[in-house]
Amino acid sequence: MLIDLHTHSTASDGTDRPAALVATAQAAGLDVVALTDHDTTAGWTEASAAVPAELILVPGLELSCRWNPPDGSRSTELHLLGYLVDPAHPELAGTLDRLRHNRLGRAARMTERMTADGVPVRWERVAELADGASAGRPHIARALVEAGVVGSVDEAFESLLNSGSPYHEPKEDLDALTGVRLVISAGGVPVFAHPLARARGRVVGDDVVTALAGAGLAGLEVDHPDHTEADRAHLRGLAAELGLLVTGSSDYHGTNKRVRVGEGGRTAPAAYEALVRRATGYAPVSG
Ligand code: AMP
Ligand code: ZN
Ligand code: FE
Ligand code: FE
Repeated sequence: MLIDLHTHSTASDGTDRPAALVATAQAAGLDVVALTDHDTTAGWTEASAAVPAELILVPGLELSCRWNPPDGSRSTELHLLGYLVDPAHPELAGTLDRLRHNRLGRAARMTERMTADGVPVRWERVAELADGASAGRPHIARALVEAGVVGSVDEAFESLLNSGSPYHEPKEDLDALTGVRLVISAGGVPVFAHPLARARGRVVGDDVVTALAGAGLAGLEVDHPDHTEADRAHLRGLAAELGLLVTGSSDYHGTNKRVRVGEGGRTAPAAYEALVRRATGYAPVSG
């Protein structure tokens, strides 16, 4: 069984529509694919209606969170995958609305700062590219590529959009412990996404993973394209120590990233089955 538990569609910052994403997953030979857009469940309906025969869709999301150390020292951004949540859970739906509203304002401010500095990029175009989706830096990146400011989305992140850039502004993220509890209260299964993806910024230590496990974290995304072999070995050991599930995925974003669906990491069938057994908020969708 080929299982990929982390992908993005045009409901956030991927480039495949949800219907195209499930078709692509089946064409790539996958048996199970999870749709995990940033801070939204908006792609679930279209993806569910388009699930091809012989593919199982696991509806999910990727929550933008932040670890706030109890001693008040500097916080660290982290991503939490939430599988099979009840999308109508009022507290979850309200939180997602707030996060997306903040994403939109932040993308507008980042873009307008560039415009004011003479970078030929317009918010109107970025908003068009985001088209009601959960807005993110990849939408700004595409507008920068279109305007000829940079040659690729990667280059946009390297030059103007990374967290050290004067144009960058952090998102308003959800406290990570709150995120774990929220996913659980919505009937879902929380998994720490790419815990050691250092290329994106600072990462947290094992002590934080332990604290999240204490709050009910169910798994670690061990096999991810941004993890080295050493990272994977370390996380596998930590997961065993803490009794956490081990998952793997591509974090596919269509043409916004180079990885293809089903590549860079996969989930073992036993871990997938254990994950589904823990969920009470929603069920996988068969084609
Ligand atoms: P944001 O959510 O607005 O902070 O933007 C972060 C998103 O951009 C994440 O989904 C990343 O997967 C994506 N991202 C980060 N670095 C890159 C990159 N070099 N190229 C394309 N996407 C990236
Ligand atoms: Zn993304
Ligand atoms: Fe992520
Ligand atoms: Fe992701």
